[in-house]
Amino acid sequence: MQSITFPDGTRVPAIGQGTWHMGESRSERKREVAALRQGLELGLKLIDTAEMYAEGGAEEVVGEAIAGLRGQVFLVSKVYPWNASRTGTALACERSLKRLGTDHLDLYLLHWRGEHPLEETVEAFERLREQGKIARWGVSNLDLDDFVELPAGCAANQVLYNPEARGIEFDLLPWQRQQGMPLMAYCPVGRGAQLLRNAALNEVAHRHGASPAQVALAWALRQEGVMVIPKAVDPLHIKQNAEAHRLSLSADDLALIDHSFPPPRRRRPLEMV
Ligand code: NDP
Repeated sequence: MQSITFPDGTRVPAIGQGTWHMGESRSERKREVAALRQGLELGLKLIDTAEMYAEGGAEEVVGEAIAGLRGQVFLVSKVYPWNASRTGTALACERSLKRLGTDHLDLYLLHWRGEHPLEETVEAFERLREQGKIARWGVSNLDLDDFVELPAGCAANQVLYNPEARGIEFDLLPWQRQQGMPLMAYCPVGRGAQLLRNAALNEVAHRHGASPAQVALAWALRQEGVMVIPKAVDPLHIKQNAEAHRLSLSADDLALIDHSFPPPRRRRPLEMV
């Protein structure tokens, strides 16, 4: 599987696993734990979670899934903006580590920009890094203008990216690539909704004997420096997602997708969910 490279040289497979909406229902827990383990077995080594998801419930599911397997996982979590003060960030990180059953995160992200100055959050991140509680830090939902205020050292930016939301191709994505800062594409299969019913995606999927979700993932992965973090609990979805890297889209396929979802011709504000 292709990989992305963090600024410190660490490489991670370009298809990971999301966890939003996991941990919300006790009765789903077994399936969710099994899903994450299946993903790990198939090489989806990066797991993305957040203190926000089920208010810590998703982190607990991840903790159960990675018990005994921590060395195989690249673990990402996120701090709520209102917790991202100098002291609040450290406390939030401790709570996340406890729920995840680990002593360190591989990447800790600011979930979105809030009331606390970015430099305070980064100061807290740097302290956590010195203490070995996080290996690196990054951000999420930050647009190009925000980076002017962000102190150096950001390892990644996690943003909405799929054919329905491709405004970042105009400026943010090329800028990140130039900086060597990986872009983590969230909602890469459009939350399993309308995008997967799009005629162009279905036509391309038919041409390759693939699924529309695999086309959406291969479409995002055509861009160097981009990784995808689809969330899936259904075993068939996980298998499809793990195999999406095998799909190589032709110029004709890309043109068909462009016709349905035109690339940006001017700057657009960053979209978020
Ligand atoms: P996704 O685009 O990953 O869609 C998830 C949905 O798609 C689920 O219902 C899943 O179903 C379904 N699905 C997954 N794979 C397939 C497939 N191969 N075929 C058909 N359906 C499929 O949306 P998310 O919102 O979950 O985004 C991914 C991850 O990104 C999140 O889980 C989270 O970790 C992160 N995220 C980050 C945000 C941020 O602000 N930083 C915002 C939003 C998401 P099922 O589960 O039944 O298999």
